[in-house]
Amino acid sequence: MTSANIRNFAIIAHVDHGKSTLSDRLMELTGTVPKRQMQNQLLDSNPIERERGVTIKLAPVTMKYRSPSSFFLLPSSLSDSEFILNLIDTPGHVDFSYEVDRSLAACEGAILLVDATQGIQAQTLAHAQKALELGLTIIPAINKIDLPTARPETVLAELKDVFGYRPEETSLISAKTGRGVGQLLDRIVTEIPPPAGWENSPLRALIFNSAFDHHLGVIAFVRIVDGGLTAKNQLQLLSNKVVCFPKEIGIFTPQRQPIVTLATGQVGYIATGLKDITQVRVGDTLTLFPLPSSFFPALPGYRPPQPMVFADVYPAENVSYEQFVDGVAKLRLQDASLTSKPIHSQILGPGLRLGFLGLFHIEITKERLIREQNIPTVFTLPTVQYSVESTNGKTLLIQNPNEFPDPSTIRQINEPVADVTVFSPAEFIGSLMQVLSDHRGIYFNTSYLGDRARLSYHVPLSELISGLFDAIKSVSRGFASIDYQIIAPQPVDAVKLTILVNHQPVESLSHIIVREKARQIGTKMVETLKDLLPPQQFAVPIQAVVGGEVLARADKKAVRKDVTAKLYGGDQTRKDKLLKKQKKGKKRLAKFGRVNIPDSLLSRLLTA
Ligand code: GDP
Ligand code: MG
Repeated sequence: MTSANIRNFAIIAHVDHGKSTLSDRLMELTGTVPKRQMQNQLLDSNPIERERGVTIKLAPVTMKYRSPSSFFLLPSSLSDSEFILNLIDTPGHVDFSYEVDRSLAACEGAILLVDATQGIQAQTLAHAQKALELGLTIIPAINKIDLPTARPETVLAELKDVFGYRPEETSLISAKTGRGVGQLLDRIVTEIPPPAGWENSPLRALIFNSAFDHHLGVIAFVRIVDGGLTAKNQLQLLSNKVVCFPKEIGIFTPQRQPIVTLATGQVGYIATGLKDITQVRVGDTLTLFPLPSSFFPALPGYRPPQPMVFADVYPAENVSYEQFVDGVAKLRLQDASLTSKPIHSQILGPGLRLGFLGLFHIEITKERLIREQNIPTVFTLPTVQYSVESTNGKTLLIQNPNEFPDPSTIRQINEPVADVTVFSPAEFIGSLMQVLSDHRGIYFNTSYLGDRARLSYHVPLSELISGLFDAIKSVSRGFASIDYQIIAPQPVDAVKLTILVNHQPVESLSHIIVREKARQIGTKMVETLKDLLPPQQFAVPIQAVVGGEVLARADKKAVRKDVTAKLYGGDQTRKDKLLKKQKKGKKRLAKFGRVNIPDSLLSRLLTA
């Protein structure tokens, strides 16, 4: 077996277009997993992934395939018609687009899978663009042709319009029934080129994912680009020079199966024995130690992980800080893109500031904390990172509103911006454009694909994470799909909005927002808080403040104890006297009184 018999490929598709189902069918057809053991969607191993139908962790699988037709189709020099097919799964959510990129970099080809009832969607396009940029061979395929609502003709035309694929180049399949999947397997073998690495060069292995195991330490999922290795080689990571003695190397079947060598072009794992997952980064290069030469080049495309969205997280009432920190640490063992640093809040006590790749990453982290670690938490509102240039020439990176500097010291604030693509039936364009412009979107262009439109915008990431996704889904009745990519930061006129309850700032409700929206958002928050806050013994003013100026105010009325009720038939002056006394008492309370905002209310406000 040489690398000429290896095919490394991915399936790229918009969510729900059938990637997992097709992976299952391929494993079944190649006998990788006996049919009776076949459990649907084998590669989605985590229960949360299965439920949500979105792959978070990418799982590769090595399949053996003896192609019936390849005998005629391949150069006669290939004596062995048995092939190793490595299917590298890619994450199904736009938050993980860097991981998608590195997984595709580990492949020579990709099946571009499009649902026959849905057509091309935002992520079909985003992933296909990446695959094309990386020079992958693409096999277009239309899935779900068994459905009565399938419109294969329309989708064939779309594939031709957008990518130039002729209808006869596109496979028509049903991943569910298996129709057409056998022919697709043959196309993988005959059309996707074998890996082209230097077999006699020193090892260069691309890390496209990682996991943690208590016995084996950090497990790097690798594509061997050049050279090869045995489990006896001492290795080094090129980005941080960390050295390790692997405990085991192997392939995925899809379970881990140890083997003796991993050769050029192969896909498998290296159990590094390292204890810290943050040392083993996606996109990094593993090579031999000591380095073959001091100028040994890393594989292209490495990027240190960059959290895009931050939230301060605190243990809920019944959880100790130690339990909470321990739970987060356990999650971080498996999730190299989750960052964490200790913080302290006057009201909520000690906590952690977590950095995430996006909103979906926040959601699944929250869910994992409760379901896998049994730890309920309070998350503050997610915020993006602002870079604030101050008048003294320094640049501050702000991940929490409470770090916002005195406005008089600010020269310029920059915020992260995303290049956003929305795909939608043309009838919703008007409302979509309205929603995008309400969220400070800058319009670029519209193009059409049959009766559907593709809109391009630049939108600040802070807007994207505060309701834009939901708004787009709701005005398009769920038909629009969205994809985004972070681009260079841009200047913004932002202010810090502080909420005062009884003249005390409520730290966890502070916001960094654009100046022009401060009044509107402040008013809304003040009104919501007024409705939700339990009444106190005294009237409580609730204010929204920017730079010392009160933009909005509401007053929560006091609980009115009817002090005069018992004075049946009493005279008016006595009543007045009592009421006056009561008023005085309340004023005193208001002056000294502290309003305790219950945790449950805060978490309601914060997750609203
Ligand atoms: P993924 O999100 O791309 O991994 O999509 P899945 O493989 O999870 O499929 C999404 C849904 O479409 C599931 O309910 C599948 O059972 C269904 N599905 C996938 N392929 C087919 C197909 O060829 N025909 C039909 N009728 N349903 C399919
Ligand atoms: Mg899936």
